[in-house]
Amino acid sequence: MFSKILIANRGEIALRVIRACREMGIASVAVHSTADSDAMHVRMADEAICIGPPAATDSYLNFPAIISACEITGAEAIHPGYGFLSENAAFVQVVEDHGLTFIGPSAEHIRMMGDKITAKDTMKALGVPCVPGSDGGVPDMETARQVGNDIGFPLIVKATAGGGGRGMKLARTADELETAFRTARAEAKAAFGNAEVYLEKYLGKPRHIEIQVFGDGKGGAVHLGERDCSLQRRHQKVLEEAPSPAIDAETRARIGQVCAEAVARIGYSGAGTIEFLYEDGEFYFIEMNTRLQVEHPVTEAVFGVDLVREQIRVAAGLPLSFAQAELVPQGHSIEVRINAEKLPRFTPCPGLVNTFHAPGGLGVRMDSALYGGYTIPPYYDSLIAKLIVHGRDRPEALARLRRALGELIVDGVDTTVPLFFALLEQDDVLRGDYTIHWLERFLESADP
Ligand code: ADP
Repeated sequence: MFSKILIANRGEIALRVIRACREMGIASVAVHSTADSDAMHVRMADEAICIGPPAATDSYLNFPAIISACEITGAEAIHPGYGFLSENAAFVQVVEDHGLTFIGPSAEHIRMMGDKITAKDTMKALGVPCVPGSDGGVPDMETARQVGNDIGFPLIVKATAGGGGRGMKLARTADELETAFRTARAEAKAAFGNAEVYLEKYLGKPRHIEIQVFGDGKGGAVHLGERDCSLQRRHQKVLEEAPSPAIDAETRARIGQVCAEAVARIGYSGAGTIEFLYEDGEFYFIEMNTRLQVEHPVTEAVFGVDLVREQIRVAAGLPLSFAQAELVPQGHSIEVRINAEKLPRFTPCPGLVNTFHAPGGLGVRMDSALYGGYTIPPYYDSLIAKLIVHGRDRPEALARLRRALGELIVDGVDTTVPLFFALLEQDDVLRGDYTIHWLERFLESADP
């Protein structure tokens, strides 16, 4: 086992990893930008090193500074958290070239899943159900028209290098195809330096269901059920839950087994998430994330496991600490992402937090790097806290969420908490009856 791990991240996820290290008896090293000298992860880690100025490109994404921090402190492994360098294959290569361990999958698997056409081809070959569409990239309008005739409309043009919803355009009819094709290519070229696009049937009322998988890197793998992340704004998840109100035990076991077998066959190592759209009882693969997800705590709550501990163990070459048969979900868990943003426009709202009081009590977990007197810097993501509740069933989890939100005090900056109070009044939310389009429509009609 490692004796010291460097965490190449900030905020709540850096704390999450430091906590796992401490419980495992592993020393932790925080890295930080000059804007984060007073951040909680710097205070909580055993050691801290400044790696550059505020801009993430100069600090949290700065390969040489992070590698040097490992060398100075004697850290043997790097945990990337999520975002930043977590899905950067070039970084993984550099880490390995320096004789260090990257806590995550191989550069090869990150590359494979980072290119959406390759990811889809790979998954299809492994028996994972995919959205019908073009087989591979679509180089020109003539091919696009042919594919359009074959799969029908509406369809969606997507960038193979895409992410964060960019390079994605809807064509409702054949007439809209040319504009969608050209704008998606232009956007993809500008955002990712790669204009390649592919076509997919557009699903009108799907849920977003994702399967948590874990590979041991030696051909073994398990799944830890699903998370339902259908409540999204601009393709960003806002509330996540496990299990999904739309999935029964038999369906979970079936799709979970398909996913676990797929990652086992490619020799995948560590945590991964296979994302699907789910409509009319069918799963359609959209992408795989080769890292720990923001919403991993809902899975931890229902399965009673520590996914970060497991990531560290697998990276150190140890076997998985749980077998598939032992993984039985208990109760229901919901996470809400609390951002420092001003409603109704979700305008980022950094600044001084005068008072911070975290909710507590039975079945409540608060993952946050806030403290009273802390100034939220304007340079990074606006996520300030994840509130995760667990109850015996969904109604209990909803009641607990409402109760815990009522206890939370964040004084000094605006937050998205009022949105969650508003959601908890909606019958569709209480019934768990929503698609990926529900929240956008709600936000258009309401003024939370
Ligand atoms: P990104 O990597 O840019 O987030 P994804 O492939 O994960 O792109 O898709 C993001 C979101 O776009 C999905 O969660 C869904 O809301 C929507 N989407 C993607 N593909 C389709 C599709 N074929 N039909 C309908 N909606 C889609």
